[in-house]
Amino acid sequence: TFTSSFHYQALPMRVSFEVGAVTKVGEELDRLGLSRALVLCTPEQNHLADLVMDHLGDRGAGIFDQARMHVPVETADRARDRARELGADSCVVIGGGSSIGLGKAIALEHGLPIIAIPTTYAGSEMTPIWGLTRDGRKQTGRDAKVLPQSVIYDPQLTATLPAEISAASGLNAVAHAVEALYAPDASPIISLMAEEGVRAFAESLAAVVADGNDLDARSKALYGAWLCGACLGATTMSLHHKLCHVLGGSLDLPHAQTHAIVLPYVLAYNESHAPAARAALQRALGTDGDPSTALWDLEQQLQIPHSLEELGVRETQLPAVIDEVLSNPYSNPTPVTEDGLRHLLGQALRGDRPT
Ligand code: NAD
Repeated sequence: TFTSSFHYQALPMRVSFEVGAVTKVGEELDRLGLSRALVLCTPEQNHLADLVMDHLGDRGAGIFDQARMHVPVETADRARDRARELGADSCVVIGGGSSIGLGKAIALEHGLPIIAIPTTYAGSEMTPIWGLTRDGRKQTGRDAKVLPQSVIYDPQLTATLPAEISAASGLNAVAHAVEALYAPDASPIISLMAEEGVRAFAESLAAVVADGNDLDARSKALYGAWLCGACLGATTMSLHHKLCHVLGGSLDLPHAQTHAIVLPYVLAYNESHAPAARAALQRALGTDGDPSTALWDLEQQLQIPHSLEELGVRETQLPAVIDEVLSNPYSNPTPVTEDGLRHLLGQALRGDRPT
């Protein structure tokens, strides 16, 4: 019998996926009735911004190449002033979550539409979630205004993403799909996307890490990034995201690597209380056993840190993390307890096979 009930809100955006799609960015602007774009990127990716400017022709207003991790409000103010000076009617954002976050900060305040060209697997381009850091504190929220109007996925642009960043960023994406499968607001179409997103990464990440120029593997991974990003945009995340947020914020750990390390342990904690998610992940990971173990096995093949210890975390720092995680209740398939968290984080600290 079919007993589910669900709500699903489709997000209005256009997605183009093609090797070489970046060359069509000008046409994309025309389609949206826009004519003067400010191009945003991080300093390391300014050659990509130059490439976009070439393809925009006289629709390119200029480049702002100072995007930074976690979107400091001062950076957002400077980028917005630059957009105003140049009379920009839109932003073309090229890069990872840091660049896309800057575009979102401008859109939040001034409503400038975004065309996003993602070059990592983080998935921010598919979500209405924004983040801004003011006086060292990161605020986040959801607003339909910050959702890009158009997203251009060009697998060729990801060929230069280093192996370690590719692997960690891919697992960060997988974490969105895993938590979407057991989210309080899960829905059938998002669960299909989540399963397929995890499958796409399971089938491509080892190849991407072995040879960054393998365009088939790069295409499959970027396809996974699209699906997993859509999962994040459509659902409410649970324990894994809460834990990574607390670990990242209080111990200043790198975002994607922390997600990659913690995910198999949270999955081990949750999978017995989330049978539909467990079955979907078994299919996606090609295993009859626990998905948490299959994911951990996959991670052992990748060039990423495998324990919180490797990120410099010490056992004495964990009780404060546990207290903070327990201080605000939120939804999770398995009730979150102090003992459970101690076990989970102890294993993640050492990089044990999850149990
Ligand atoms: P990032 O944008 O900082 O990029 C990671 C690194 O990859 C950087 O050093 C960058 O220079 C490099 N890089 C990017 N593209 C490259 C390429 N093609 N070739 C070589 N190097 C390249 O980080 P990220 O992992 O993409 O995103 C993480 C940030 O995004 C975090 O701040 C996170 O909070 C945010 N995020 C937000 C959402 C959302 O929905 N709002 C979703 C996911 C992540």
